[in-house]
Amino acid sequence: MSIAIIGAGLAGAVCTHILAPHHRCVVFEKSRGFGGRLATRRGSAASWDHGAPYFTARSASFREFLSRSLAGDTLTEWSPKQTTFSPNQKPYKRNWFEPHYVGTPSMNQWLKPYFNDASVLLETNIEHISGQPGQWNLHAGGEHWGPFKWVISTAPVPQTTQIFEPFFSIPSVRYHPVWALLCTLERAPSWAVASLKDSVLERLIINSDKPGRASNPTLVALADPLWTEAHIDHEPEFIQGQLAAAAEAHLGSGLKAISVHRWRYAKVVRAHTNPFWLDRAKQLGACGDWGGEQGAESAFLSASSFARELLTRQ
Ligand SMILES: Cc1cc2nc3c(=O)[nH]c(=O)nc-3n(C[C@H](O)[C@H](O)[C@H](O)COP(=O)(O)OP(=O)(O)OC[C@H]3O[C@@H](n4cnc5c(N)ncnc54)[C@H](O)[C@@H]3O)c2cc1C
Repeated sequence: MSIAIIGAGLAGAVCTHILAPHHRCVVFEKSRGFGGRLATRRGSAASWDHGAPYFTARSASFREFLSRSLAGDTLTEWSPKQTTFSPNQKPYKRNWFEPHYVGTPSMNQWLKPYFNDASVLLETNIEHISGQPGQWNLHAGGEHWGPFKWVISTAPVPQTTQIFEPFFSIPSVRYHPVWALLCTLERAPSWAVASLKDSVLERLIINSDKPGRASNPTLVALADPLWTEAHIDHEPEFIQGQLAAAAEAHLGSGLKAISVHRWRYAKVVRAHTNPFWLDRAKQLGACGDWGGEQGAESAFLSASSFARELLTRQ
């Protein structure tokens, strides 16, 4: 059967990997590349992972899925030097108690092979669907594709709601937004990851410390989600100034801010009670990280359980 998959992030990769060997899959992605919120911005001789800076894998099934990329060196465990900054307290060292993973040389490239068995249309922002169960058409920028027997959306819940309107609604899911600041540094500090307390910033990550990156020191600073919520519609220039000043106070050397990126739906803070949504009568489905509160791992678990369910009970 023919399946349209909306989104080429981790959930889209997992759905495609499981379904494409059995069915004709076409993937529609609004951005120029793969990865979704596992994102990397490239500059001349530098790069910034401005979405998820790293992720963990607690379930055996996610670790098993990652093992192929770990063996192929497109994914690596990263053990950076860490510190914590709190007001009126000396910085103190922290350790991670479980492995944290990063893509090499970028956060998104390791996902690309999972789309090999499908056709992929990049820069295609699906606006809505039309038709009927088993004969769906997808529409973007005056063009349309179809008919498809099934449509699966891996976009964040508010975007899927728009695309599937009026069939899909999960208002209980909540995301935190995050502003990300991308900088070059004069000098890298002695730590590579810093957590901040009572600050406009939540995390500082020395991107150039990750394996496989160019050595020019680069920083990604992630704003505190509640601060972001309060400043979501401020001008990027204002945000850049605020975040750069807050970051500079902890660096001990100068920084040059390159740009900011606003993630409206960065992290799930209230997940859905079910890991995915599947309507057999309508032949529509949705999955993604909103099935849990563990970021990338939740996207994997949601997409893999959704795709297996679709395969086993067609
Ligand atoms: C700043 C930040 C920090 C984070 N930190 C962590 C962390 O430390 N650890 C962790 O595990 N997770 C973290 N996360 C969350 C993690 O990145 C996500 O949970 C995970 O990547 C979600 O994958 P997904 O496939 O469900 O969604 P996405 O990656 O969002 O993929 C959905 C895809 O759908 C596409 N799309 C959307 N609408 C349309 C449309 N209309 N038409 C076509 N395509 C469309 C999008 O472009 C995107 O590529 C962070 C995220 C951000 C932004």
